[in-house]
Amino acid sequence: MARIHTISLGMVNVYLLEGESNVLVDTGVQGSEQRILAKLKTLGIKPESIDLIIVTHNHPDHSGSVEALSRITAAKVLAHKLEYQAEANGLNDEVKPVTAMAKIIFGLAEKMSSNNKTIDQYQVDILIEDSYDLSPYGIAGKVITTPGHTQGSLSVIINDQAIIGDSLMALLPFSRPSKPLLAFDLDQIKKNISMLIDLGVNRFYLSHGKDYDVSVVKKALESF
Ligand SMILES: [Zn+2]
Repeated sequence: MARIHTISLGMVNVYLLEGESNVLVDTGVQGSEQRILAKLKTLGIKPESIDLIIVTHNHPDHSGSVEALSRITAAKVLAHKLEYQAEANGLNDEVKPVTAMAKIIFGLAEKMSSNNKTIDQYQVDILIEDSYDLSPYGIAGKVITTPGHTQGSLSVIINDQAIIGDSLMALLPFSRPSKPLLAFDLDQIKKNISMLIDLGVNRFYLSHGKDYDVSVVKKALESF
């Protein structure tokens, strides 16, 4: 059975799936590669043993180091087709801030990205439109499309656990998970999470926050 390791980069987590081969889920902001490699080393995982990098969605705190890490590890990169198109067009403008605080943060992020190049162009090897079975990588699990935060947001299901990217967020150290700051369709997110609960997912891993029991996630859905 594949193990999920949390690699915390402070503001954002990336995840390592350790199975017969190793799969990295997300890559942090641009310039995170050395921190991630150092954490992998403490787990006894060599860069060249990473065979796949899954990009849950194309925000710069998730896809920022894809280019560097795919070069160092020679891993294939998997993303949703719609995210790759969003990448080609810059920030996904379908995504709307959902709270006043989000509007402030999002405004700043937009300003920064127009001044600096925050996302490296990166090559995607596997473009999916629906789901993707991870068994060729020796991992009993799959990638599914869970749109809502962005149009092509992905989740990864391993047994009764799911990595859900930014479908929920817990932004402050002791805050409980809640709806994400940015979304184009909150109802769809709620439906996706309910679907994961119906599939038997008991533990949810967030990019901002940590991992939570299904009972906590059910409470989070009430915030929508
Ligand atoms: Zn995001």
